[in-house]
Amino acid sequence: MRRLALLLLLTVPAFAQSLDERVAREVPSLVETYQSLHAMPELSQQEVKTSAFVAQRLRDLGYEVTYPFGRYKEPGTTCYGVVAILRNGNGPTVLVRSDMDGLPVPEQTGLPYASQNAGVMHACGHDVHMTTLLGTAKVLADLKSRWKGTVMLIGQPAEEIVRGAEGMLAAGLYEKFGRPNYAIALHDWILDAGKVGYRAGAFMAATDSLNLTIRGVGGHGAAPHATKDPVVMAAETIVALQTITSRERPPLEPVVVTVGKIEGGTKRNIIPDEVKLYLTVRTFNPEVRKRVLASIERIPKGIALAAGVPDDRAPLFEPLPAESIAATFNDGPLTERLANALSRELGGANVIEIEPAMVSEDFGLFSDGGKIPTVMLALGAGDPAKIAAGTQPGLHSSKFAPSDPALVLRTGVRAAVAAVLDLLK
Ligand SMILES: [Zn+2]
Ligand SMILES: [Zn+2]
Repeated sequence: MRRLALLLLLTVPAFAQSLDERVAREVPSLVETYQSLHAMPELSQQEVKTSAFVAQRLRDLGYEVTYPFGRYKEPGTTCYGVVAILRNGNGPTVLVRSDMDGLPVPEQTGLPYASQNAGVMHACGHDVHMTTLLGTAKVLADLKSRWKGTVMLIGQPAEEIVRGAEGMLAAGLYEKFGRPNYAIALHDWILDAGKVGYRAGAFMAATDSLNLTIRGVGGHGAAPHATKDPVVMAAETIVALQTITSRERPPLEPVVVTVGKIEGGTKRNIIPDEVKLYLTVRTFNPEVRKRVLASIERIPKGIALAAGVPDDRAPLFEPLPAESIAATFNDGPLTERLANALSRELGGANVIEIEPAMVSEDFGLFSDGGKIPTVMLALGAGDPAKIAAGTQPGLHSSKFAPSDPALVLRTGVRAAVAAVLDLLK
């Protein structure tokens, strides 16, 4: 791959320079757009102003915009999806997706353009993604002589609760606007600003959210022999769940089992009737995913049995499909093709292979069960000095924001435009 990139670098420098110059002209206004979006974050499923802003900007650029587009299962909720189409003759269709929602995080960056919506923050970089999408839209509209086909830009709501992609697809995104041949997305990453990361195959983990209710028989704290204590069983369960990753997982398969919240009891001298555990589980391999979930169901049952809990008080295992999502896989050939295209545009040293992460995404749903090649690329948004020193705040942190948004946006737009031009050349 590197030799090919070098060869092409030598043969097409004029093209690479001109796209960079073209993008550089947009950067000052993109930084302003980014700062406005950063200051007005909205929570998942409440992206009213954000989506209207994105839809209007895309309409102004001459795109055919449909908005709001999408449908959630819950009645009475609006899916604020944005679909923007630019047709330019015969050729393939490329879908480019940005997510739009913020997080329930009180911002602590101290930036002059910090969130003005108390308790809500763009802590995952979706403000960068939207701005990159708008910059990409502008440059592609101006460079129509360089590509043939259809560009489908997606402003997706509710990524943080992994509902938005499903909502847009359920409303007939592909039936109404055509099936894309490729789907791509960029996500902010803790990687030096100016760099883009890629990873073929498994990229982001599957998430399973579930609750365990450990039921016992309550009573007086001074008479434990007359009870079946769910606090003790919950403690045993939490410890025993650790053996899933240490003893049951195939050693080369990544698995995370986290009990993030525990709830039970009212007073120190009362043994409660039940204790509730809230879990998040991360896996890549679908077979391993099934086995881990089966283990989480089995282990508390065994502990209850050992404690002599009556059958009608057996633990309850409650999977939450609405808060669960499959793993995100990047198509191998498409990843390699885009890594080459981006190396030509950004320079080989700025396009690097990265490790998968145990975080999750719903972008994979746009692949329609793996039938449409999709790639999510990682857009470096970190400060190299802070990364080296180990002090860079991570995604979802109240202190996360790119320290050099101009460089991040410039790199993001160059990367997205270069990818689309390569696919529609
Ligand atoms: Zn996030
Ligand atoms: Zn995100």
